[in-house]
Amino acid sequence: MSGRRQSPAPIDRGVDFDVIVVGGGPAGATAASWLARAGRRVVVLERARFPRFHIGESLLASVNDVLAQIGADALIRDAGFTPKWGATFMSGDGRIERYADFSIAPGVPTPQTWQVPRATFDHLLLGHAAASGADVRQGHRVLEIDIDDAGVSATVHAPESNTARYSIGAQAVIDASGRGSVLARKFDLRVDEPRLANIAVFSHYVGVPRQPGRRAGDIRIVAREDLGWFWLIPISNSLMSVGVVLPRDAARAFLTLDHEAWLERAIAETPAVARLLADAKREWPVRVEKDFSFSSRAYAGNRWLLAGDAGSFLDPVFSTGVAIALESGLEAATAVNSCFERGDWSGRPLRRFARRQRARYMSFRRFVIGFYKPEFRDLFFSADPPRRVFQSMVAVFAGYWRPSWRARAWVALFFLLVALQRRFGFVPRYVANATPDTPS
Ligand SMILES: Cc1cc2nc3c(=O)[nH]c(=O)nc-3n(C[C@H](O)[C@H](O)[C@H](O)COP(=O)(O)OP(=O)(O)OC[C@H]3O[C@@H](n4cnc5c(N)ncnc54)[C@H](O)[C@@H]3O)c2cc1C
Repeated sequence: MSGRRQSPAPIDRGVDFDVIVVGGGPAGATAASWLARAGRRVVVLERARFPRFHIGESLLASVNDVLAQIGADALIRDAGFTPKWGATFMSGDGRIERYADFSIAPGVPTPQTWQVPRATFDHLLLGHAAASGADVRQGHRVLEIDIDDAGVSATVHAPESNTARYSIGAQAVIDASGRGSVLARKFDLRVDEPRLANIAVFSHYVGVPRQPGRRAGDIRIVAREDLGWFWLIPISNSLMSVGVVLPRDAARAFLTLDHEAWLERAIAETPAVARLLADAKREWPVRVEKDFSFSSRAYAGNRWLLAGDAGSFLDPVFSTGVAIALESGLEAATAVNSCFERGDWSGRPLRRFARRQRARYMSFRRFVIGFYKPEFRDLFFSADPPRRVFQSMVAVFAGYWRPSWRARAWVALFFLLVALQRRFGFVPRYVANATPDTPS
């Protein structure tokens, strides 16, 4: 793969590392931790200074496996984050609750995970990468990456250091720079998802009641009639992250409003959320993110790999972002390590890495696309979803995107039923906000 832009900077091998990791978010910190612990010389170039705000606060059970593999499980377990056992999906009027407890799913070894303020979580993980032996440089923005047959080099801008602009060389680069990916832009890799061109508007609140007992730490997903949805994520004892995601068509009705009014109106017209936020107080400015779903034409090439959001991102309805970032960060690290061991930067490990990125994306994608379709919701919120089918779906919701073949067969049956529902409408239509006249 060759870059579109001509690179003026000569590759400087003065400072040599085995691997450059661009970005110190969950994907970069995971890749760097694993590689450093495997004895590789790793530099992490992170443009921000941590702790810094980031959206994406609800984790999946599968992150436990990755945290254990990089030796960060105790660090996160002891950090005092809100324990999360699953997700509660609700209708807009609160009439229907579908509780997905990760412990009912087959093949989920550690069902309990966490809700995290990302500033703290990401800071801990980046600190772990440094403690594992990576050279972590904060306030160092990568401007350009050049790749040739002999190695890679990054041109770095570090305004607060003595050398404001410098070049650094390595054998390989893992781009974990998030949705602004340096390499995806350079190689023009991005493939947008027009069907998921959604808009999220969100903030943090105090004074929102929790669910009782073990469900107190659940994420609550509240489905709206316009196919949008709310998240409520208890990220600390007092704070609740609250956000609404709207498909572009539904968002049109809000476009004349400023973002505060947008969020307030969406809350007011979603009865279950309005009730929960009746005595709540907003603690943060309202923020907005949009057009956040995409994949990549390629995920790896000669001496480079894309991990986490740098490669792909899916609408957050099933909270898959951080789980994918951790898993792909780990897989990028092991793929690079295999390339070192083989002395070959073009072969199987990179192809396998890329295949898994694509397969994982596609596996979650059909659930995400489904959630925005009425027929999916008709079945998902139907009175008695078949037990095995639902349990198998929860395995995927827990982050295990390729569960046992048996679970995959049940999931396939669900999507067959969704297709039949679209054609024949054999279960009653799901209604988010039932009025007294609406049959439930
Ligand atoms: C509205 C919304 C809600 C979400 N909710 C959830 C959720 O509930 N659960 C969940 O799991 N996920 C959620 N996500 C997704 C989650 O935020 C991301 O998937 C996750 O942060 C990806 O991690 P990452 O390490 O790949 O990228 P990031 O966390 O974005 O980290 C990338 C890092 O790279 C740095 N960087 C960028 N450019 C450069 C450069 N040129 N040089 C050096 N450093 C650079 C950035 O400063 C950043 O620290 C949500 C996303 C959105 C938009």
